[in-house]
Amino acid sequence: MIHRKSQSDLDRMAAAGAIVAETLALLAESARPGMSTLELDEIAERHIRAAGGVPTFKGYRGFPGSICASPNDMIVHGIPADDVVLADGDILSIDVGVTRQGFVGDSAVTIAIGDVPDATRALLRTCQASLFAAVEACQPGCRLGDIGAAVQGVVEGAGFAVVRDLVGHGVGRSMHEDPQVRNYGEAGSGPLLKPGTTLAIEPMITAGAYDIRIDDDGWSIFTTDGSLAAHFEHTVAITDDGPRVLTLLDGDSIVNRPI
Ligand code: MG
Ligand code: MG
Repeated sequence: MIHRKSQSDLDRMAAAGAIVAETLALLAESARPGMSTLELDEIAERHIRAAGGVPTFKGYRGFPGSICASPNDMIVHGIPADDVVLADGDILSIDVGVTRQGFVGDSAVTIAIGDVPDATRALLRTCQASLFAAVEACQPGCRLGDIGAAVQGVVEGAGFAVVRDLVGHGVGRSMHEDPQVRNYGEAGSGPLLKPGTTLAIEPMITAGAYDIRIDDDGWSIFTTDGSLAAHFEHTVAITDDGPRVLTLLDGDSIVNRPI
């Protein structure tokens, strides 16, 4: 069942989402070669709590971190660790969830650490562009399949692969609500998404095959072929006026942060 949100619910989600956006911006500025993902986690938790939020991921089904930090061929759900040290040329998916006033904001970016090859930058740009296309598809009267089709069109059009076994999700009072949001599908298919629907849309794409494997730690999810993966996410509301992105810095717009 899809829980639709009121205007005041959306405003509270945007307040949680602004903390998420601040945290991601802070981590993107802070990350550099030689730094561990545990250091990033500590920076994130400090900022989130100082801003009046709670790191949603911490303790979720026993997850130990405040963020997920997933380098290179790890797609998502990386546990921050002091022995995962960033190197020049790495890419890193950083995923942040914040709960504030009973509502959750959930957003992710994949950043380049130092210099990365043009082909890697193209992977990141394509993933970000596919998220933007999906957000644009969130118009009143849209169907769930429009979102997946938008992602898939951009990603496969650029020669990359869409991960099939991981999905976005409804989000609101809980981090994971209905519906599941696939990153592939047929435009015009699936349930109608009514105003007040709030979704965490999160394309996960690879430079190789889309098959995944879960690590022995029970969390980290990798590409099976070792190819690089990218991941971008925003929490988005469908409103009568079109999409409202809820995980932005105050005054920011979705299109002004090119990779
Ligand atoms: Mg997330
Ligand atoms: Mg999510």
